[in-house]
Amino acid sequence: MSHIDMRPFMCRSDNYGLILHESKSGSTAAIDAPDADAIEKELRKFGRQLTHIFVTHHHADHTDGILQLKELFGCKVIGPAAEADKIPGLDIAVRGGESFQWAGRKVDVIDCPGHTKGHIAFHMPEEFSLFAADTLFSVGCGRVIEGTMEQMYHSVTQFKSLPPLTYLYCGHEYTLANCTFALTIDPDNRHLQARRNEVEALIKQGKMTCPSSMGDEFKTNPYLRLNDPAIRRNLGMESATDLEVFTTIRRAKDVFKSA
Ligand code: ZN
Ligand code: FE
Repeated sequence: MSHIDMRPFMCRSDNYGLILHESKSGSTAAIDAPDADAIEKELRKFGRQLTHIFVTHHHADHTDGILQLKELFGCKVIGPAAEADKIPGLDIAVRGGESFQWAGRKVDVIDCPGHTKGHIAFHMPEEFSLFAADTLFSVGCGRVIEGTMEQMYHSVTQFKSLPPLTYLYCGHEYTLANCTFALTIDPDNRHLQARRNEVEALIKQGKMTCPSSMGDEFKTNPYLRLNDPAIRRNLGMESATDLEVFTTIRRAKDVFKSA
C-alpha cells in the first residue's frame, strides 16, 4: 500500500493544522480549516493541491478557512451532518458509524458529542490514526461546551478500545498545561512525570508535542484513567462511578489556573 504523509503544523495561536497526502492518487486532505493562509502556505511548500477538508465540528477555529480554500482548490468538504447548518461550504455530510473511502483507505466516522453537540472524529484504522480535534487532547480532553458531561465521558471512553499504537492527532497544543493539571491529581505517575519533562523540552525547542500515541495516553491521560486507584484516592472518590470521577476532573480543570 502506498504511504500517506501526515504533516502537522501550528497555526492561529495554538491550533494544530494537519495535511494528509497520498502520492499515487494525489489525494490531499486538511483536517479542519483553522487558517486558510497557513494551510495554503503549507500546501505550496510541497506543491500539493487540496482535494478534501475533513471537518470535525463547527467552531470558527476549525472552519474559518473552509470557503477560501474551496475557492482556491475546489476541494470537497466532508463534515458532521448534525452541524451541517453551521459549517460553511459543506459538501458531504457524514454521521457516526458511517465509513467512506479516501485515497484507498477506510475512514470511520465516530460520533463524539460533548465539546459541541455534533462533534465527530475521523479514524483511519489502516493508518493507525485518530483525528480527534477538540474531543481528546494529549493528556487532556476538550471543554464540555454544548453537550453534557455524560456525553463527553462516553465520547472519550470509547477511544480506550483503539490499539495502543494508534497515533492521536488533536486540535490544539495544550499538552504542557494538561500535564501540569494532570500532575495535581496524579502526582506519583512516573509516565506522566516523564511526559511532562519531554513536553517541556519539546516546547522549549519550538517543537510540537503531537501526535502522541494512544498507548501513551492510556498511561498519562487522566480522562482515560478514571479507574486508577491513585487518582481516585487523591480525589477522595474511591467508590464513585467513572462518570463521577470524569465530571470532577473536568470541572476542576475548567477552573484550574496554572502558575
Ligand atoms: Zn472547538
Ligand atoms: Fe478548537
